[in-house]
Amino acid sequence: MADTTLMTIPGQVDPVPVARDITPREDGRIDLIGLPRPRIRELFAEAGLDARQAKLRSKQVFHWLYHRGVTDFEAMTDIAKTMRPWLAERFVIGRPNVVEAQHSSDGTRKWLLQTDDGHDFEMVFIPDADRGTLCVSSQVGCTLNCTFCHTGTMRLVRNLTPGEIVSQVMLARDALAEWPKGVMDGLDDAEDAGHYTADGRLLTNIVMMGMGEPLYNFDHVRDALKLVMDGDGLALSKRRITLSTSGVIPAMERCGEEIGVNLAVSLHAVTKDVRDEIVPLNKKYGIEDLLQACADYPGASNARRITFEYVMLKDKNDSDEDARELVRLLKEFNLPAKVNLIPFNPWPGAEYECSTPERIKAFSDIVFEGGISAPVRTPRGRDIDAACGQLKTAAEKKSRAERDREAAAAQQA
Ligand code: SAH
Ligand code: SF4
Repeated sequence: MADTTLMTIPGQVDPVPVARDITPREDGRIDLIGLPRPRIRELFAEAGLDARQAKLRSKQVFHWLYHRGVTDFEAMTDIAKTMRPWLAERFVIGRPNVVEAQHSSDGTRKWLLQTDDGHDFEMVFIPDADRGTLCVSSQVGCTLNCTFCHTGTMRLVRNLTPGEIVSQVMLARDALAEWPKGVMDGLDDAEDAGHYTADGRLLTNIVMMGMGEPLYNFDHVRDALKLVMDGDGLALSKRRITLSTSGVIPAMERCGEEIGVNLAVSLHAVTKDVRDEIVPLNKKYGIEDLLQACADYPGASNARRITFEYVMLKDKNDSDEDARELVRLLKEFNLPAKVNLIPFNPWPGAEYECSTPERIKAFSDIVFEGGISAPVRTPRGRDIDAACGQLKTAAEKKSRAERDREAAAAQQA
């Protein structure tokens, strides 16, 4: 079994990323998904190819893996027929294991996925009129325990590897049948005609808003997103990728510099008392410092505004005064900002209620009047527990007793 890191300390200690790029497999083969070009080249050289061959083959294989989405070496038609079994003996092209795929009545899709060492996590696809957004997970569970978030109540936490992160996007492209076709398939180079965008894709945007705090798994998220943005990889523009953080200040600047994607910040409250309660990380990184880090975010501008997410919790953070204070703070720090108001999505045992629609409207109006756009995000996929903050895997919903019984049975087997 692969080694895993259990991180159970809520919001106090930054978890140490698991330093590994390769998940060991029982059959000894190496999964190439998640590896950058130079690493693939290195592995090919270690397996016996001379330097020139390793360079050439890694370039070809990289293209097939990430740009064309093939999952079988036999499909790599510009690689010699004799070479393909050589590759297949040593390497595999992985995808997350799909435990369950669900469809919501509003078109939202959710996949329950599993890592090779048996950890469950989730991914959600949200189709809209003019775009399709994939909500990607960065961790199994989350250490931060925001009180309104179901994911934060998961006991098991482990960072996902770059492969486990990028392969969510690859799996979505598989499911939507959206890999570009090429001349080598005997088809023309034109991409599929689709419904939504000029380039004909359903999957147009990515948000790192699934399970986990992406900036607590910085290196792996960066490495995965580099593959997503690579022109010869998944080739998605950084302008179509948004990373959401609960406010891990020390990693924010690096995020702008090393990844360069759009930033969303889970603000959710404007006073220390309330934010300390609902986003416990606030005790470590307070509101003013967080807003300063936003003002310093590399690449933020009026054309590329920072999104501030604000979950609407009845009688907790939703007063007119809160809305006015929100405007004041965003102006004080001169932030190129837009506010995203998220109606609270309930889950069993949650101690909050969603603000009334009238309250949300009043709040939104005040922020708009302050000159800041503040649309209300329509909840999607609630019927399949796919909405923001509802992600918590079925395995984690089991009781402690059930888990203990299963563990005992596994030991006896
Ligand atoms: N950990 C990151 C990203 C994942 S959560 C973060 O916190 O930003 C994505 C968004 O959903 C965050 O803004 C989060 O605060 C919000 N969210 C969590 N639980 C929610 C719930 N029950 N209802 C509505 N939004 C929720
Ligand atoms: Fe973690 Fe984000 Fe949920 Fe907070 S809101 S517990 S940071 S996933």
